[in-house]
Amino acid sequence: MALIVQKYGGTSVGSVERIQAVAQRIHRTVNAGHQVVVVVSAMGKTTDTLVGLAHDITPNPSRREMDMLLSTGEQVSIALLTMALHALDQPAISLTGAQVGIVTETAHSRARILDIKTERLRRHLDEGQVIVVAGFQGITNSTDLEITTLGRGGSDTSAVALAAALQASQCEIYTDVPGILSTDPRLVPNAQLMTEITSDEMLELASLGAKVLHPRAVEIARNYGVPLVVLSSWTDGPGTRVVSPLPRGRSLTNLEITRAVDAVEFDTDQAKIALLRIPDRPGVAAKLFQEIAHQQVDVDLIIQSIHEGNTNDIAFTVIKGMLTPAEAVAEAMAPVLRSGGDGNRDQAEVLVERKIAKISIVGAGMIGRPGIAATMFKTLADAGVNIDMISTSEVKVSCVIAATDCDRAIAALCQAFEVSCSSLPTAATPELPPVRGVALDQCQAQLAIRHVPDRPGMAAHLFSLLANEGISVDMIIQSQRCHILNSTPTRDIACTVAAADLEQAQKVLTPIVSQWERGEIVMDRDVAKVSIVGAGMQGHPGVAAQMFNALARQGFNIKMIATSEIKISCVVAAAEGVAALNAIHEVFQLGSVTPVQVPA
Ligand code: ADP
Ligand code: ASP
Ligand code: MG
Repeated sequence: MALIVQKYGGTSVGSVERIQAVAQRIHRTVNAGHQVVVVVSAMGKTTDTLVGLAHDITPNPSRREMDMLLSTGEQVSIALLTMALHALDQPAISLTGAQVGIVTETAHSRARILDIKTERLRRHLDEGQVIVVAGFQGITNSTDLEITTLGRGGSDTSAVALAAALQASQCEIYTDVPGILSTDPRLVPNAQLMTEITSDEMLELASLGAKVLHPRAVEIARNYGVPLVVLSSWTDGPGTRVVSPLPRGRSLTNLEITRAVDAVEFDTDQAKIALLRIPDRPGVAAKLFQEIAHQQVDVDLIIQSIHEGNTNDIAFTVIKGMLTPAEAVAEAMAPVLRSGGDGNRDQAEVLVERKIAKISIVGAGMIGRPGIAATMFKTLADAGVNIDMISTSEVKVSCVIAATDCDRAIAALCQAFEVSCSSLPTAATPELPPVRGVALDQCQAQLAIRHVPDRPGMAAHLFSLLANEGISVDMIIQSQRCHILNSTPTRDIACTVAAADLEQAQKVLTPIVSQWERGEIVMDRDVAKVSIVGAGMQGHPGVAAQMFNALARQGFNIKMIATSEIKISCVVAAAEGVAALNAIHEVFQLGSVTPVQVPA
């Protein structure tokens, strides 16, 4: 007899018929000899409808009242599903988050789970009951017992957290697609089902726009080694397994606010090449990285910041042993790119920096905690270390710094995050596919800060201001180009933020930016972010070139590029997002011949 947690999403319980079908499936699982805890979402589009009602009343509803309102959706579906189980003579009981004892922080509308009480669950399971739990909600353990919600899509997180707390043998997420696909089948009809994916890859995909799983659910599965599978509630296919590394025996107390950083890593075997003032037009990045791939050079980090006038800068890092061929390509390409007739002839320039180090903080507790990256920048600043390049992923933040600063940076970071240092970066896994999936995020905006004084502490200061507001940033890019204003070197810093946070970000940054000479905040809402994810990307030269090529062939200009070891993200114009997603999906031959069925 196994204990299984099953979660059913909104569409899966969207009508009486669907609820009855779900009850049948649960009943079959019990008849197969298992104990079952079920987590459900609100029916169909209920949560959206409730959000709409609130906004019909006020543009700024209080977060507390929103939680009070939205948590009702799940209460409807637990009761109805339990009635459907009773109709099958299946003993069952529905419980709200509060009745179970899903204890969270007080942060309304985005609360993290601290603890899950298991006594009552165990008692009902021992009585032979199926327990139907309301997803997405919890309760604070303050005397006021406030109702909280975990954030949109949070029922996945409730389910995986319950599975971790109960040490269930499996957590099954039933949804409206057959499993995790190479991309969103609603945007790319021939998206292909995968049999498995690593939790690191899924963390990236989920955070980059693949809403099939809530990123925090993947984070818990990864941290506690919960066997996780995503399947269709319509069919009986095998679905997709999310494979996690062996768990480290973490405590279940403070479940979602475990240690954010597990280790500090460094790599001194890297060199940087920057091409400055190359034309800002489609095809330039494609041409450059294609030539580099021809030389079998594996590129590690790539960044391209926002354009300045009609030119742009691209910087990338390679291992030192590959610097000579990479530099030769860059030198050969520069004159070709210069002759682009863009009015900036003879200005393109190649810069090579041999004495750099990449220093990273690593851990799966950083998701949705923008303060962690800000603490890293602040720690480096306090140690007098200037940051040259920044690369962020869901499980890692890396900074390129001067090699001479490396020892000092390691010591400072290890002390700040109370961790030890591992000298070798996480090993590449070239046996895994270079590209597992493609994601599109249409809810992002680009935020650029012009003429930031180039001295230690600036990135720390800016990103702490955003972090204090709970604003997460992605794709942080400092321009390579430096302007001297009144003998102060300045650079531009660009990043992407959720479009919903853009105004607030502008508000908190304006007081400081307006103090600088020519300081300016430039915002662009008209963007989409398209990303590829694959743990086998390292050790496969040419992956970036293929992605950039796919965009160039469509005539799409790339507004920004940022990478980490297992992902490459490009910002393009919003109107080009879906076509860009399709082109990239096709270039990596991720499509299947038989399109999956997606309910309307
Ligand atoms: P549920 O209500 O079951 O939680 P969601 O709507 O939250 O379902 O998530 C399922 C949806 O995620 C799918 O219908 C699909 O449109 C979308 N999706 C986006 N990216 C992917 C992907 N890579 N694989 C599968 N589905 C995806
Ligand atoms: N009902 C909530 C939402 O729509 C939670 C969930 O479905 O996971 O966001
Ligand atoms: Mg969902």
